Amino acid sequence: MALHKGHAEPEPDRHLALNPFYGLANPVGGMTEAPPLHRLPDGPLPPMSAYQVVHDELMLDGNSRLNLATFVTTWMEPQAGVLMAECRDKNMIDKDEYPRTAELERRCVAMLADLWNAPDPSAAVGCSTTGSSEACMLAGMALKRRWAKKNADRYPGSARPNLVMGINVQVCWEKFCNFWEVEARLVPMEGDRFHMDAESAAALCDENTIGVVAVLGSTFDGSYEPVAEICSALDALQERTGLDIPVHVDGASGAMVAPFVDEDLVWDFRLPRVSSINTSGHKYGLVYPGVGWALWRSPDELPEELVFRVNYLGGDMPTFALNFSRPGAQVVAQYYTFLRLGREGYRAVQQTTRDIARTVSERIEAIGEFRLLTRGDQLPVFAFTTAPDVSRFDVFDVSRRLRERGWLVPAYTFPANREDLSVLRVVCRNGFSADLAGLFIDDLNRVLPDLRRQSGPSADDKAAATSFHH
Ligand SMILES: *Cc1c(COP(=O)(O)O)cnc(C)c1O
Repeated sequence: MALHKGHAEPEPDRHLALNPFYGLANPVGGMTEAPPLHRLPDGPLPPMSAYQVVHDELMLDGNSRLNLATFVTTWMEPQAGVLMAECRDKNMIDKDEYPRTAELERRCVAMLADLWNAPDPSAAVGCSTTGSSEACMLAGMALKRRWAKKNADRYPGSARPNLVMGINVQVCWEKFCNFWEVEARLVPMEGDRFHMDAESAAALCDENTIGVVAVLGSTFDGSYEPVAEICSALDALQERTGLDIPVHVDGASGAMVAPFVDEDLVWDFRLPRVSSINTSGHKYGLVYPGVGWALWRSPDELPEELVFRVNYLGGDMPTFALNFSRPGAQVVAQYYTFLRLGREGYRAVQQTTRDIARTVSERIEAIGEFRLLTRGDQLPVFAFTTAPDVSRFDVFDVSRRLRERGWLVPAYTFPANREDLSVLRVVCRNGFSADLAGLFIDDLNRVLPDLRRQSGPSADDKAAATSFHH
């Protein structure tokens, strides 16, 4: 009769043939001592305990849907979330291992080239990035390299390259100029002009100008810069002086708004002087943070020596990027959103967002104690300040009181030559529904009686209040 027997021999030393993540079974051990916060703990915690510790701490982060400061997407459909979860292990640089992800990136670039009216979409070149900042670095590098090649007799040597732009540009351009040693030539604000105008831009250009950056639209007030006028001023400059200065359009927000709801506005590759365009897929491209795009009109605008090659299906694929490894999920989510919405869908989403921006700005104007600088009729973004006769509170007070109710609305001071002007700014995004907008106006009306009873502005947190508007 076969009976099972005990096992007398000592077991040889053996390791658990499992991922070490699964090895911790003691549910009590971790409860006796809190792990250190600023040094790596000595040992592991059970996964559920670690999850709960991190989860609980994060509950104190603001609610992203009430964040009216950010341009970045805070709501996507559950299906997009599922796709992103399915792709979270994919590294964008591994073109050979994930050829379909690489193909989706390629299709997105082609769709954007078509959307931005590249004269020959099949000739346009472009890439995904982590956001507009990286895209702007790449575009700026291409401008600088093209200029350097044309001026090899003077650079390096006597000439110092410069880049012309409005003082309202996003901080990434300041970074670009600092990191790549380019002089930033800034057109200041003047009176009621809060962005760069064509004449001032042309006036700052000389033989060392690598390009002009036109912003669609400005983060300060949501206004579009006059890209076509800037291009014609540079055409006139070329006729007068022979200087041929390319334009880069920083369309971080507007390049995914204007094509759908301002179809008559000519700002893109239809203007022969526009050599490159960037956008943030994670702003009005409607994807969660982590994706931007940079496109050049043709390979002539992107010096070949800046392009590196990686393996792809036995051949090689050109890449232009600052990072090497980068998550692929956002690129997949961008393709999903393009496929999901199409032109009509994007139009509906952006029009709805802009309608809400206009309604909210009108309702704020109707209160009587505020003056609108912009109305949300370009980007769905508007800036406003207190009316001239309001002396008991200022924009910083309004920002602080709204924050008590969960709303993040930045207050900040404008740059030169309007340092005298402080504003509040509201960024409307998909997900800020008409109902939420109504609740926001209710809350603004709810904090005003208190503010009217102040003896004057409470002046204490101006520096802190300016920190979250970019
Ligand atoms: C947001 C923004 C940027 C920076 O983009 P990120 O995607 O956040 O890196 C650059 N320029 C403009 C005009 C912007 O609005």
